[in-house]
Amino acid sequence: MKQVLVLGAGGFIGSHLVRRLRAEGSWVRGVDLKHPRYARTDADDFVVSDLREPGNVRAVIDRTFDEVYQLAADMGGAGYIFTGDHDADVMHNSASINLNVVDICNRHGIKRVFYSSSACMYPQENQLDQSNPNCREDSAYPANPDSEYGWEKLFSERLYLAYQRNHGLECRIARFHNIFGPEGSWNDGREKAPAAICRKVAEAPDGGEIEIWGDGEQTRSFLYVDECLEGILRLTRSGFPGPVNIGSDEMVSINGLVDMVCEIAGKTLTKRHVPGPLGVRGRNSDNDLIRAELGWAPSAALRSGLEKTYAWVEDKVARKEPDPV
Ligand code: NAD
Repeated sequence: MKQVLVLGAGGFIGSHLVRRLRAEGSWVRGVDLKHPRYARTDADDFVVSDLREPGNVRAVIDRTFDEVYQLAADMGGAGYIFTGDHDADVMHNSASINLNVVDICNRHGIKRVFYSSSACMYPQENQLDQSNPNCREDSAYPANPDSEYGWEKLFSERLYLAYQRNHGLECRIARFHNIFGPEGSWNDGREKAPAAICRKVAEAPDGGEIEIWGDGEQTRSFLYVDECLEGILRLTRSGFPGPVNIGSDEMVSINGLVDMVCEIAGKTLTKRHVPGPLGVRGRNSDNDLIRAELGWAPSAALRSGLEKTYAWVEDKVARKEPDPV
């Protein structure tokens, strides 16, 4: 039976990944500061631990594993990453985790280590044109991310690649583009645009209005979590180290996203544009490299993932229960 370790297993993508790995028949240890918030973990062994502490990392990586998935990070949506208020924590916490994890994986001769980077590491000047952003993997340098979160991701990509170069640790690096789906943050200040918009639409009475940060013409693409998992597993088990984008190339404006959610909800709402943290003007996943290297790329329509996510958020809103802490 495959022995697998998932770091960040209490988080959104990590908890979905644990479920998928268990369904495949692997034995899974999950580690996080906290248990998953919205469902019981499926891990065989779940350890609550702070990965910033080297001793804790030594305790959870106490032997070799067939695969390690490193998803733990101090992160959130635009309201967390782009205000500047959390910059020191984001850099210190995530870099400490990665410095510990890569070194201890190397000492145990772990065969495969997956690292989750982000499209936030791409240079901001390539993302000024909302209709034609450049997020090709080879456009990363000269580097100029628009957030400290992006700089930390870039640093950690290089850290894993340096261990691969100098010590032969086999790393697989993905740059995620806006992953969404049920069981993710939706109302705690760390939620991203799809969950935030689903919540606002679910809360608004038909004919009412909702607030949108900025003019809503900024563009993004959003990838449903199941396709993200598919990409993670295909990459980890391939011979290609990356870094490679894992994202959808169905680009949509935030106004377009709101219209789609309103349609799903069967509501007519007026958008009120208000100032707010925004990030880059345009971003879309470029999937040429993943197609060439893995012979696969995400293909599901945004709308199908949004329907499932809206149903989950709407149910949360209707219940009016406080979320478990
Ligand atoms: P998430 O915040 O839900 O999960 C991250 C988990 O890491 C959290 O459960 C958190 O408690 C845990 N963590 C943070 N600090 C820790 C510590 N010191 N010790 C142990 N655990 C700690 O985020 P997610 O959306 O599941 O993202 C997973 C990974 O993918 C992250 O590295 C993130 O940066 C990256 N990523 C996500 C997206 C996205 O759209 N969701 C986009 C780009 C990159």
